Amino acid sequence: MSDSDSIVDLLVFGGGMAGMSAAARACSDGASVVLVEKGEAIGGSAIYAGFIWTAPTIEVMREVNPDGDPGLSAQVVEHFAAALDWVRSLGVNVADPVTVLGYGRGSQTDMANYLLACDRLVRDHGEVLTGWSAHALLFEDGAVVGAEVENGAGARRVIRARSTLLATGGFGGDPAMRAEHIHPLAANLPLRANPNSVGDGLRLGLSVGAMFGPPNAGFYGHLIPSKVAYNNPYEFTDLTFYHSEHGVLLNLEGKRFCDETVGDHLNALHVLDQSDARALLVYDQRVRDEWMMVPYVEGVEPLDKFQLAYRRSARAAVADAIEEFEALPDEWGYPGPASRDTLLEFNRQCEAGAPNPGRELDALPLLTPPYYIIEVIPAITFTFSGLRIDPQARVLDESGEAIPGLLAAGADAGGVFNRAYAGGLACALVFGLQAAATAIAERAASA
Ligand SMILES: Cc1cc2nc3c(=O)[nH]c(=O)nc-3n(C[C@H](O)[C@H](O)[C@H](O)COP(=O)(O)OP(=O)(O)OC[C@H]3O[C@@H](n4cnc5c(N)ncnc54)[C@H](O)[C@@H]3O)c2cc1C
Repeated sequence: MSDSDSIVDLLVFGGGMAGMSAAARACSDGASVVLVEKGEAIGGSAIYAGFIWTAPTIEVMREVNPDGDPGLSAQVVEHFAAALDWVRSLGVNVADPVTVLGYGRGSQTDMANYLLACDRLVRDHGEVLTGWSAHALLFEDGAVVGAEVENGAGARRVIRARSTLLATGGFGGDPAMRAEHIHPLAANLPLRANPNSVGDGLRLGLSVGAMFGPPNAGFYGHLIPSKVAYNNPYEFTDLTFYHSEHGVLLNLEGKRFCDETVGDHLNALHVLDQSDARALLVYDQRVRDEWMMVPYVEGVEPLDKFQLAYRRSARAAVADAIEEFEALPDEWGYPGPASRDTLLEFNRQCEAGAPNPGRELDALPLLTPPYYIIEVIPAITFTFSGLRIDPQARVLDESGEAIPGLLAAGADAGGVFNRAYAGGLACALVFGLQAAATAIAERAASA
């Protein structure tokens, strides 16, 4: 393909879940495609993920994600089964469905194989550029008509395209954008995701007048031990304290501040709102045995996360009785007597059936010593605000009109989830496939 005189049907930025799905699907439908990936290899955060899942019905989606865009979030549910059939059609192993996060439904999927299968399709029928990124979109007569791309050595190339898809994975990797769009303290959050998703798609979209939003939509993340750095990406899940849902979280005043049971991913948002964005997670032997040491999702090996973190010098301790909380180390900054009193009061409230704040899913007191105490902080996986899109995955401008030629999917598209979560892979897959369908329709229209 020559550099500037030919026009491809679809130019994709981002070789993760949304981008690879879109590029491969478009190729399999006969489109000409160039996929540009900033990293040295394709995969993005999707390579670390395992379960393609979402809410089983639109009603459940509305219940768990009430502030998400109703149309877009319903689209994820409605197109989920067909999207999973597409994954299977590539010969990828998709396991039987299981329950995920208590309210979702989905399947463990061989993600490495899926991404490889997509990569093979695109290389056979189009082009994959790794180590390249967007320099600028080509914007002519109010339409995006491709982009100028560049590599690390400074080489540039113009790629003209009927449709250009932004699928760069959101802005979770950019501390300044996190501070601006999530929370001032979010600048310091550790990243539990690929490091390249630093808002490039967002900046490109905004440069041609795209609408950003919704404001304050938060992020998908989890609680991890403070003071412990990830050694490798596999620790993104090893160090995640999913079982915070059955423990108690105390802030720097020694007080509870949320219903911990609704989900560790929501606890991460609540802890960010606390002073210094940190909290003590407390649980007892029952919670350890019944929740931490059983698979969080069927098919995942349990792990003694407390021990792992303790060995890595996390702020952690074990107490034989709640009274011992009085002697919490001063340097941690939590008031011992107030923390002890909160826990004793929590147990009294649970026994009376009225914990405050309430406990929707597990209102049992912590009565079985020893007590495990560990300081936790939120870590970010991906962002929920982004470029506003319509059901065809077309990027909208400030007046709500589609910007001709510009598409977004995955974490670059904002509003599907809003301070709530029901499956990042499914969302990226459904809108990636939708973007391919829109690009194919565009090609047909211009024929
Ligand atoms: C440890 C971990 C476990 C997870 N587990 C699950 C799970 O089990 N189920 C689930 O549903 N979700 C899970 N997720 C979330 C899921 O991975 C994401 O929701 C999904 O990958 C988002 O897809 P995406 O295409 O938007 O971004 P990504 O898959 O992250 O892909 C974005 C790609 O864009 C590239 N890029 C960035 N900037 C540019 C640029 N300027 N030009 C070109 N390329 C660029 C990046 O390098 C990256 O390859 C997990 C995430 C992590 C980190």
